[in-house]
Amino acid sequence: MRSCALHQFFPYVLLTTLLIICASAFADTAVESVRWPDVTYDSSVPTMESVLGYAPGDQITSIEQAHAYLRALSESQPARTRLIEYARSWEGRPLVYFLIGSEQTMSRLEEVKAGMRALADPAELSGSEIDALVAELPAVVWLAYGVHGNEISSTDAGLQTAYHLLAAQGEPFNTIGDNTLVAIDPSQNPDGRMRFVNHFRETYGIEPSVSAIAAERREPWPAGRTNHYLFDLNRDWLPLTQPEVIGRVKTFQEYFPLVHVDIHEMGTDSSYFFPPPAQPFNPHYVDAQQEMLDAYGRNNAKWFDHFGFEYFTQAVYDAYYPGYGDSWPAFQGSVGMTFEMASARGLAGERRNGEIVTYADGVQRHFVASIATVETALVNRETFLRNFVEYRRSADAGEHGGPREYVIPLTGDRSVVHKLAANLVRHGIEIRRTTEKARACDVELPVGS
Ligand SMILES: [Zn+2]
Repeated sequence: MRSCALHQFFPYVLLTTLLIICASAFADTAVESVRWPDVTYDSSVPTMESVLGYAPGDQITSIEQAHAYLRALSESQPARTRLIEYARSWEGRPLVYFLIGSEQTMSRLEEVKAGMRALADPAELSGSEIDALVAELPAVVWLAYGVHGNEISSTDAGLQTAYHLLAAQGEPFNTIGDNTLVAIDPSQNPDGRMRFVNHFRETYGIEPSVSAIAAERREPWPAGRTNHYLFDLNRDWLPLTQPEVIGRVKTFQEYFPLVHVDIHEMGTDSSYFFPPPAQPFNPHYVDAQQEMLDAYGRNNAKWFDHFGFEYFTQAVYDAYYPGYGDSWPAFQGSVGMTFEMASARGLAGERRNGEIVTYADGVQRHFVASIATVETALVNRETFLRNFVEYRRSADAGEHGGPREYVIPLTGDRSVVHKLAANLVRHGIEIRRTTEKARACDVELPVGS
């Protein structure tokens, strides 16, 4: 009887045991994978587990949780960090960036910002002044996550990048060292992210469903990609209609980072994309920018090869339209990049070939690409700074052809002219007003232009 009972019970015991092993293996993979192997950690820097109660990649972090973690990092390392609000979303959520630098860099932060702004206007500087700034300024790196709110893994990757830049000891973190100033924007679109997170949490069951038709992975209209008024914020860098992007453009011109990375997700069936981008290139990219994109791409590829992550370059994602988060910075003389990860669109998703993509996979790959980017900027700091100066100098000198000044008559609907002028000022373009008679293109212009 006993043996018979055991015989009947055994398959259930075995099945349960297997399920527990599988579940713990999944959990262990998620926890362990979102770390950089072979480094040690400064225990005075709080982990995500200690602040939020879960490991990176295990849950989809809300905006409030992300900010709580960055506040904890900031309170733990006040001399090396700043948490700065740069805009408010339509729904009243703060948009923030988290700065990480050496104590020395942070103690002279205003000087560093002023130095980059000075390099952005090199006509005002002597050669020796430029040399001195290039010698002393850190590599400013801007890592901007989640402009599309339902491209979710990037925010947690930003948090994990912040933790590692503060806590990790070993390579490549020792090499990255002190001569960088890294800004982490954990969510460029907090309203869109919370639209996704709220729907996900309302529809999530006991465990992740990988099905393409699972409620938790299928968002109802209007989905989390756009902001409150359903604008695609990755198209707004040129028209500047939304407060999230207006704040970013203003902040960008306070720092003029050497590189700005816009970090996304794409379809579940894909792998990972980083530059060089696809053709066509916008013709206003200069050769040096294409060479820098190549350098960033090669270092990302080195680390992706190291970890065995699949990726592709030079396809799908182009650098033509100037209002993207990767192209607008390029026309400021910086380098702009898009990174794209196959989305789990939840905690796990199944590809058509049966492979499973997890949220932790996305966090890990974005995190590795972020660290690789910081490393590239640091290793090439002086060259990239000189490329930035040369871009600004040659543009100012009118060496790229085309008109150097436009005259806008203040006639007809004057409010439209003022609106255009205000937009140009936000882009950093100098506007002057004349009340003198003027001629342009052999045409006499009305007084008051
Ligand atoms: Zn996107």
